[in-house]
Amino acid sequence: MKLIQKAKGFLFDLDGVFIQSGKTLPGAKETITSLRDLNIPFRFLTNTTTKNRRTLQTSLADIGLQCSEEEIFSAGFSGVQTIRKMGSPPCCFYITENLKTDYSEFKENRDAPKVIIIGDYEDWTFDLLDQAFKHVMNGAEIIALHMGKYYKVDMGLRLDAGCFVAALEFATGKKAQIVGKPNKEFFQCALDHLRLRSEDVVMLGDDLINDVKGAQDIGIPGILVKTGKYHKGMVESSGINPDGFLHSIADLPNILNS
Ligand SMILES: [Mg+2]
Repeated sequence: MKLIQKAKGFLFDLDGVFIQSGKTLPGAKETITSLRDLNIPFRFLTNTTTKNRRTLQTSLADIGLQCSEEEIFSAGFSGVQTIRKMGSPPCCFYITENLKTDYSEFKENRDAPKVIIIGDYEDWTFDLLDQAFKHVMNGAEIIALHMGKYYKVDMGLRLDAGCFVAALEFATGKKAQIVGKPNKEFFQCALDHLRLRSEDVVMLGDDLINDVKGAQDIGIPGILVKTGKYHKGMVESSGINPDGFLHSIADLPNILNS
């Protein structure tokens, strides 16, 4: 596949491509080894917001995926850069305690924040949602780390962060700023970090909107990997045309070495 062979760098989705349910997928480790051998840089671009970058990095290392914190671009960490750009206003967080450590430089104000930050968070109650609603009505901006609707766990489907953001948008009429994929700035940050142009890299992911379309929207070829959430008929009904398909990340080392 020409697109892959001429790429000077890669952007990779993590879940459903390299890992699934806390385990590596076939070919994940070999792909990283090949890229290191060939000196081809990459960044993981993930909407995961349950863990901070350090925890994410160590949990990947624990399952044999060696990468540095700097090689992980997570929506959770991208939120930090967004708040910095806003001038580090007082914040109210609706995120996990683990992720909060990435946000320790910001002042937390639960009474009169200028911005509220919502990520993966399972401690919602009526009172907390009502409090967030009042903050927004009093002028606070909404930062959504991502807008996931639901996700799959062993027990079945579970509500995701986007539902709570949508509830607040509905009540207040205010739109949230989404910082994770498919936000263009999120992709641009990773490109800047790689010091590569959009046409020099390729994005590989299992999500049509967040990965493939998100990449294509800033001129990065988007390849759909047929593992993770991929299922038959998903492309045909989407109106999105991936620039290529890969059966699995396990195919990448051979393509790179051919
Ligand atoms: Mg994925």
